Amino acid sequence: MLDKVKSPLVTERKKSIYDPTQEGLIYPEIPVFDNFESERLHRKQRLVAACRAFALEGLDYGFAGHLTIRDPEHPELYWTNPMCVHFAQVKVSNLILADHKGMVLEGKHAINRAGFVLHAAVHEAHPDIIAMCHAHTVYGTAFAALGRPLDPISQDAAAFFEDHVVIKDEAGQVAVEERAGLAVCDWFKGVKAAIHQNHGLFTASRHSIEAAAFWFMALERCCRQQLLVEATGHKPVMVPPDRSRYSREHVGSEYIGWLHFQPIYDHLAKTQPDMFA
Ligand SMILES: [Zn+2]
Repeated sequence: MLDKVKSPLVTERKKSIYDPTQEGLIYPEIPVFDNFESERLHRKQRLVAACRAFALEGLDYGFAGHLTIRDPEHPELYWTNPMCVHFAQVKVSNLILADHKGMVLEGKHAINRAGFVLHAAVHEAHPDIIAMCHAHTVYGTAFAALGRPLDPISQDAAAFFEDHVVIKDEAGQVAVEERAGLAVCDWFKGVKAAIHQNHGLFTASRHSIEAAAFWFMALERCCRQQLLVEATGHKPVMVPPDRSRYSREHVGSEYIGWLHFQPIYDHLAKTQPDMFA
């Protein structure tokens, strides 16, 4: 038996304002693992669920989009969705394990080259980042054309206040060269999300693929809401900076992203059991 695996899931047992004060009620618990095999399977299942959730949200665009989670035992390697497989068809058995050079070490499918370029560069530059999500979405990409950050127009949008960046480097040029990955990876220091101008959205998590996936869906939703508000022609009322920071601290953390993903995971596990195949 291996020593207790020290993963962010174990070390960050952060509680939130939502924790029930009453004993004995059903409430999600962050899992603890005593071996790499169980933690690896857990991460792969959640990665698949994240892909299935993206499919439910209509975040697919042909073969574009890639989600990654580091292997718990070999953090220099990461699991990702296979190239040219629809998010709705991703399952545990068709995931691929790749290194930072884009070499597939496990799995039969090819890797998305643009995916490995950007993710590998960020994963390599930021050892603390364990999961990332990227897709070419309707509202995120539309908002990215404006080249500006999201405004705190709601409590939900405040979750991203001072916690995302707009990347202008390599904007609009398909990122298949390794140089492109290196140009954008510096920006991910200490933030959970990035809007890549003329391209789309990225999220990064130091906690879990569940947090990265939820915050990605949340960011897409916030971009949609801001575009809707701006389309009215009226100037929205902003949440003031101090309240935005308060909201971000309480409802914008990695743990809260993980917690938000739990009902999504449970729903998928019940309705799409083939994802475990
Ligand atoms: Zn892309």
